[in-house]
Amino acid sequence: PFDPKTFTAYGNAAAGHEGVLSDESGELVIKPCTAAEVSFYESALTTHPEFAYFMPRFMGTLQLQRTPPTDPTPLPGDNAEPGMRLKGKALETDQCIVLENVAAGFVRPNILDLKLGARLWDDDTKPEKRARLDAVASSTTSGSLGFRVAGMRVWQGEEASATKELLAPVEGKDTKVAELDQSENVLVFNKFYGRSVPTEDALSALRTYFVVPKAGVRPAAILPVVRAFADEVEEVLAMLEKKESRMYSASLLFVYEGNPGALKEALEAPPKSVKEEDDEDEADEEEDEEDEVPAKKSHALKVIDFAHATWTPGLGPDENILQGLRSVLRLLRKLETELAGST
Ligand code: ADP
Ligand code: MN
Repeated sequence: PFDPKTFTAYGNAAAGHEGVLSDESGELVIKPCTAAEVSFYESALTTHPEFAYFMPRFMGTLQLQRTPPTDPTPLPGDNAEPGMRLKGKALETDQCIVLENVAAGFVRPNILDLKLGARLWDDDTKPEKRARLDAVASSTTSGSLGFRVAGMRVWQGEEASATKELLAPVEGKDTKVAELDQSENVLVFNKFYGRSVPTEDALSALRTYFVVPKAGVRPAAILPVVRAFADEVEEVLAMLEKKESRMYSASLLFVYEGNPGALKEALEAPPKSVKEEDDEDEADEEEDEEDEVPAKKSHALKVIDFAHATWTPGLGPDENILQGLRSVLRLLRKLETELAGST
């Protein structure tokens, strides 16, 4: 059913390596990956359904012909100087994982990738790389809070605009932390943004993602979205407290509807839960199915990136991940309170 010739570069990646693709429908992402990530998806589906619920839907794997390493065609988003890549190099692999595109169906998907953990390497990582990752962690909120912004994409409304302070290089570094995608009017925050956020500004980083007055969403209107995310992070936390796993460099992927009209619509008629759908199926079998328009989603939260994830029976819960989740939850609740006060 897949024709790799029709795949295009996926435009909504907030972080990570280059080389993520999408299919023609836009419903799928096709991501070069390691065998370890495929096994983790498979084992989660078969033995940890409570966790699989929070993963993007796994559709299978695909072997793609590798593009020659000499191919000079720059991929979108790769506009940095050599040695100053905004994204990681494409993985040297043909193996791809096919996943549900979590950002599909949104009119203006605002996307945030929060990389979890203070320790970001697994037992197979070489000492040099461990040291590099530890250095980044200890100088960022990864070390202090157990998570950092890996990247984000925030729609800035219908009117072309730019936020000067964000577009300016960070003091002392000649690299931009955010750039305006002119065609979409989306502020794209690269990996250097999250590395530049001091611990005391982690909440304002979340504000930058959630509160976008220029897009025409009132702070009060975003409150239910922040609350829903906080509730879901709480669920992920409670679920992982009961699991024995180790996930290094996994992320929380947030997507919410940035278009005010579409957001309003989604909040007024939220999609049915799987439970409600099941109940309905039992009641009136195939009836009504044709005239059912899929409801719009206001938001989606998933755990992603399992290149360094394993189930570890006997080792107890993954405190490294849990610390990050607790910090994210605490800040989301703070923002929730703040937004509730601004109504
Ligand atoms: P990497 O190992 O390159 O970091 P990730 O799994 O973190 O791989 O994916 C990189 C980026 O691609 C993420 O930051 C996210 O924005 C996007 N992405 C990954 N998987 C999905 C998905 N299933 N749906 C939508 N976006 C995704
Ligand atoms: Mn990642």
